[in-house]
Amino acid sequence: TMDYGPAPEADGEARAWLKRHDATFGHFIAGKFVAPASGKHLATIEPATGTTLAKIAQGIAADVEAAVGAARSAQSSWAKLGGHGRARHLYALARMLQRHARLFAVLEAIDNGKSIRETRDLDVPLAARHFLYHAGWAQLQDREFVDHVPVGVIGQIIPWNFPLLMLAWKIAPALATGNTVVLKPAEFTSLTALLFAELAAEAGLPPGVLNVVTGDGATGALLVENSGIDKIAFTGSTEVGRLIRQSTAGSGKSLTLELGGKSPFIVFDDADIDGAVEGVVDAIWFNQGQVCCAGSRLLLQEGIAETFRKRLIRRMETLRVGPPLDKAIDMGAVVAPVQLERIKALVETGVKEGAEKYQAPGPLPAEGCFYPPTLLWNVHPSSTVAIEEIFGPVLVAMTFRTPDEAVMLANNTRYGLAASVWSETIGLALDIAPKLQAGVVWVNATNLFDASVGFGGYRESGFGREGGREGLYEYLKPKAWSGRKARAKVPPPSPAASH
Ligand code: NAD
Repeated sequence: TMDYGPAPEADGEARAWLKRHDATFGHFIAGKFVAPASGKHLATIEPATGTTLAKIAQGIAADVEAAVGAARSAQSSWAKLGGHGRARHLYALARMLQRHARLFAVLEAIDNGKSIRETRDLDVPLAARHFLYHAGWAQLQDREFVDHVPVGVIGQIIPWNFPLLMLAWKIAPALATGNTVVLKPAEFTSLTALLFAELAAEAGLPPGVLNVVTGDGATGALLVENSGIDKIAFTGSTEVGRLIRQSTAGSGKSLTLELGGKSPFIVFDDADIDGAVEGVVDAIWFNQGQVCCAGSRLLLQEGIAETFRKRLIRRMETLRVGPPLDKAIDMGAVVAPVQLERIKALVETGVKEGAEKYQAPGPLPAEGCFYPPTLLWNVHPSSTVAIEEIFGPVLVAMTFRTPDEAVMLANNTRYGLAASVWSETIGLALDIAPKLQAGVVWVNATNLFDASVGFGGYRESGFGREGGREGLYEYLKPKAWSGRKARAKVPPPSPAASH
């Protein structure tokens, strides 16, 4: 539908990779693809067109058992390799991602629906950066983490919004610290994980260190229940996080959870309004709003609310929604019809509960899962859309009078992942930031991520951190070593003397 802008990214290499596998994949266990024990597959759909892209294996208990067994067999030699030995592998994985950056970026865009500009400029380079950063830590491990040992075999379950990047966030710290992994990617977006596992084996990663078992939530639940797992690391919805916490309770498995959010984006009267408008665009329309830390609640101080609304709507008029491989688009497709329906239903509820709706007027492709950038104005803090995570390109706006009221509104949520504060008065911003219940607070900025900064939630957004030094401790167990000094030259005390 777009007759301007650069040519769409060619997808020949990605299609050729799919074809080489007859667009049908097994699990990746002990260094190779294996057919699913059930013989059953699920279709993975291309959200921008609605066509079937490939078939992925539906994992059952026997597959999970085989993968956990492979990870167990590989773990002690992987740990014995030492930090320097593992660093060489992590550097090789980073180089592998860089060498195949284009293939990963295109495959991710067609499988998920997100724009090629984002996969090329963010998902793939940030994933590579995560391996480089953790390779550095692996080299320092023997010196910096004395009296710590690997947790063991890790079960990792990831969502579909950043398939490759979440893979990197999960496996880089786990592998760096001497653990082995069974990864369960999201059923909508398993392809880049399968490509990664295949290319990692080619790059020399020992068999069994990284295993990928695909399937839906039932497969994830089997991984959580498997008794050979030492720890579960999960990123996904708060509802599933709660189920996993229940199921691991009393099992001796350790657990980290990265869950949902409803992050506030607070703009004070003295903010740089144009800067804040651009911030909003990034906060809620990046990745179609399917971002756990999306700035999805816009809190505006009354003095600028009307000006802000006008400028934001004018900016929305320039946003283009279209096919993911078109380099000129701002927003691609929503991941799946079920998510699209959920977004539509929540927006309808918001309007019924009194919000005014604005949508970007640009054309939408006729086919596929597309939804326009949407603003719900005059939202009451107690209405459904102010409380529920929409996980789509929908911003809800409300106003406040005083800084105290801003803090109260911002913290009026069960979540606590991120927050963004906009003011030209640094004293005000620095007064507000510590009062916000959130794992990360951005000042005059949003969505800043780096491998060196621990990311994670407060409250129902979960616990545990990914990235930074603190992220490594999630995959290490402290081990105190104490005892008598060796007494080689001292004769042992006689039994009589010890009484
Ligand atoms: P989801 O919880 O339905 O699925 C996430 C993963 O869990 C998938 O791989 C799925 O197959 C698996 N799963 C589903 N049911 C399971 C069960 N009973 N036991 C074990 N595994 C199960 O979430 P989603 O819809 O795929 O992802 C969107 C959600 O993820 C949003 O709520 C978002 O906020 C959250 N998210 C959080 C972060 C974070 O870092 N905090 C990052 C990305 C996404």
